[in-house]
Amino acid sequence: MNENVAHRKIIHVDMDAFYASVEQLDNPELRGKPLAVGGGGDRGVVSAASYEARKFGVRSAMSGVLARKNCPHLIFVRPRFDRYSEISKQIKNIFFEYTDLVEPLSLDEAYLDVTHNKKNMPSATMLAQEIRQRIFDEIGLRASAGISVNKFIAKVASDINKPNGQKTIPPEEVILFLEELAIEKFYGVGKVTTAKMYNLGIFTGKDLKEKPVEFLTQHFKKSGGYYYNIVRGVHNSRVKTDRIRKSVATEHTFHTNLTSEIYMLEKLERIATELEKRLKKTKVSGKTITLKIKYSDFSLQTRSKTLQYFINDKDLLFEVAKELLYQERMHNSVRLLGLSLTNLNTNSKKKERSTVFDIQLKLEF
Ligand SMILES: [Mg+2]
Repeated sequence: MNENVAHRKIIHVDMDAFYASVEQLDNPELRGKPLAVGGGGDRGVVSAASYEARKFGVRSAMSGVLARKNCPHLIFVRPRFDRYSEISKQIKNIFFEYTDLVEPLSLDEAYLDVTHNKKNMPSATMLAQEIRQRIFDEIGLRASAGISVNKFIAKVASDINKPNGQKTIPPEEVILFLEELAIEKFYGVGKVTTAKMYNLGIFTGKDLKEKPVEFLTQHFKKSGGYYYNIVRGVHNSRVKTDRIRKSVATEHTFHTNLTSEIYMLEKLERIATELEKRLKKTKVSGKTITLKIKYSDFSLQTRSKTLQYFINDKDLLFEVAKELLYQERMHNSVRLLGLSLTNLNTNSKKKERSTVFDIQLKLEF
């Protein structure tokens, strides 16, 4: 742990339009067409859009109604999270051939610390190239990547040549890159903070850098110190692997198989209560709720829903669970019910030690 974190090579890999691309991979008739994964009904929301759909202004988190208005010939497909996580695992297995330090951010994004990689490749740029090529050759999907000295810069960089591209910000370019970066691109600067920064005359990294730390802490409290550091290339959050909890789940197997929906709801409410207890204990919340149903013939069915926000309370969990249960056409009596929460907010929680980023450092990138 004493190793200087400034001497790191971090890759951020981000799959291109992941859910939509998986659908196009599995269903060739959807290729080249504007596609939205999500609900197309009155209350539906787009969870992912293919690049063909994006050309018409279709975006994720957009209402299905608006998406259809923007793109009348848009094709809606129901999400298949089991399939997405299956492919996500295959992608992760490719990562693990290069490094064990893999931190998934979601099903389609991860940080890799390749400073000491298993292939002994000195160039993180070449390594990212190889990984993206392998994802394409072995799975058939395209990925973009950002390569730099810390997670924050790698993540910003992976967007630059997206889709199907990559960008390296080597150590000697970090400072200039950060100075030229628009303030809203800084990690942790959301809409509210952006507006506040604008009001203070801060539009770029350079503007931010000119503000003394006292000024920043006065206006942004604890985050002020973070902004002060991050614009100087100091961001030493490690790539977190086994520390990351990916899901919290609770399930019950019943002595007598259930046939009545009323009983199932009663059980689900109890499961939601138990799940809430575990979530609160570990101070975790998440966005994706999955209902698991095992039938008396041992066939297994899962249904998921991803919300736009993190939840951890019983009432909401139960509401979503109910909705998922009603979607299921029961074909048998039920022997097990389970609820799990994924897409957790377990990143960016822990404080990391800071050391000053050494800009003089020449690393092969
Ligand atoms: Mg992506």
